[in-house]
Amino acid sequence: MRKTVISLVAATALAAPAVAATDWTYTGDTGADRWGQLHQDFELCERGIMQSPIDLGQANATGEVEVDVMWQPGLQSLVHNGHTLQANFAPGSAMMSGGKTFNLVQVHFHTPSEHTVDGEHYPLTAHFVHASDAGELAVLGVMFEEGAANAELQKLIDAAPPAHTETMDFDAAGFNPAAMLPGDAEDIAVYRYMGSLTTPPCSEGVNWHVIPAPVSASAEQIAAMETAMGMTARPVQLLNGRLLVAPE
Ligand SMILES: [Zn+2]
Repeated sequence: MRKTVISLVAATALAAPAVAATDWTYTGDTGADRWGQLHQDFELCERGIMQSPIDLGQANATGEVEVDVMWQPGLQSLVHNGHTLQANFAPGSAMMSGGKTFNLVQVHFHTPSEHTVDGEHYPLTAHFVHASDAGELAVLGVMFEEGAANAELQKLIDAAPPAHTETMDFDAAGFNPAAMLPGDAEDIAVYRYMGSLTTPPCSEGVNWHVIPAPVSASAEQIAAMETAMGMTARPVQLLNGRLLVAPE
């Protein structure tokens, strides 16, 4: 019986198209400048006009965007999906933005940061991904600069799967996502614009929020994240006339 299953799997693999939907990278033949040609579902990566990341230094408006973060301590699981280290949250944490409620789903990381400020990357960024009940996405980006060690980040580094592993359970109680914010969770200043997922399929309609004030991580922690993930930043995309609001 087991033998039959294995041969069926092998046959499926042989029949699969040359490039599977998951077969993308940041550089080389399947790199970021080719994503749009890898799969029909990735078309927006090339043809989209509201793509992310962008350079935040080109803000064309200022304003106070009301963002309220209501995150609970605790994580459900941790996974290294081959591209990034991702921690999945249990239901119960949310972010309010523009009068809408978005539930915290997961946080993942990029080295270096994807958004830039006047062309400059930070060495590390966290993307807190939220979804409304209607399926609309909102991301809150936190930048890390080199400095003092970050206690919350260390909890993830200590528990991180080395690479390409299945989801693993995580000792949930110890991790407090709000401790990764630079200040008061009820009064967060952000850059705000409408963009996309920064990985295939590059879907648009994502409500982007990036906090300008970075938090710190030690050189050792940043190096550990670089080792775990490699270069994981999509190049900045054109603003294409979009509204980009900088905090006042
Ligand atoms: Zn991301």
